[in-house]
Amino acid sequence: MDLSQLITKNLPVYNKGKVASYIPMLAQVDPKQLGVTLFNLKSNQVNSAGDYDVRFAIESISKVITLLWAIKKLGMTEVFKHVSSRQTGFAFNSILNMEIENTNVPLNPFVNAGAILTTSLIAKDTAFDDILNFAQKICNDSQIYLDEEIFNSEKSTGDLDRSLAYYMKSKNMIKNDITLSLDIYFKQCSMMVTTKSLANLGALLANDGIAPWNNHRLISSNAATCVKSLMMTTGLYNQSGICSRLIGVPTKSGVGGGLVCASPEKYGIGIFSPALNKDGNSIAGLALLKDIAKELKINIFR
Ligand code: GLN
Repeated sequence: MDLSQLITKNLPVYNKGKVASYIPMLAQVDPKQLGVTLFNLKSNQVNSAGDYDVRFAIESISKVITLLWAIKKLGMTEVFKHVSSRQTGFAFNSILNMEIENTNVPLNPFVNAGAILTTSLIAKDTAFDDILNFAQKICNDSQIYLDEEIFNSEKSTGDLDRSLAYYMKSKNMIKNDITLSLDIYFKQCSMMVTTKSLANLGALLANDGIAPWNNHRLISSNAATCVKSLMMTTGLYNQSGICSRLIGVPTKSGVGGGLVCASPEKYGIGIFSPALNKDGNSIAGLALLKDIAKELKINIFR
């Protein structure tokens, strides 16, 4: 498979999308970028093409990392007492579902409310640096750093996320300090990664929690399975069902334009292209992923 050829074919798709504009620093990113890294678990080979080495904000893909950290620290049972694992019918930053259903738990850890709640569970005993170190470890990338400008941009415009947090606090879903939890949440979203970091994360998940670069178990098998299943059902928000049908590989997106995919026992894939579709997912990134999944025959339902 020629990755460069697939990049050339799919790059123009960016024209149909728009970069996230509700976070001012993201609005400045050049939309005409598409990059990919593929980690092959059988050969241990890594192949990249296009804008694979550009650093960009991880945004919601950090929800995978904090969920893994929370499961590691508190255990699966405790975490899922506080957050459900249901699919969404609303935008990723919607308050509506909690209000309408009055369930007292956010829908899942990959929508903003669920991610803020997950972060609040660990906020008391976790410094942001612990999350950063953990991210560097499970992405095998010591260069991941916090971009202060993006963090400030997120923080100064994050009123909707604050609203979600205060709503959950008012319903006693979040019991500790909102400011601390939001501070960590905005920081985790502002970590800078490349497609290589995401391909490594995908490869770790695809390899049942064992890092293929050093054969160390970094997360439990149960955690890897749980996260992959949530990526499949909720990782692309309202587009999760459609992408399950058209692509069939557990995938998580972020509004920075990143995609992380875990093809069980086969590949970890990291993709970057900043223009988004209406559901907040990378538009050219998903077009590229669809082609790759078809060529590699990695639809898990085959
Ligand atoms: N930081 C973004 C927010 O809180 C993350 C959303 C996303 O990537 N989908 O809205």
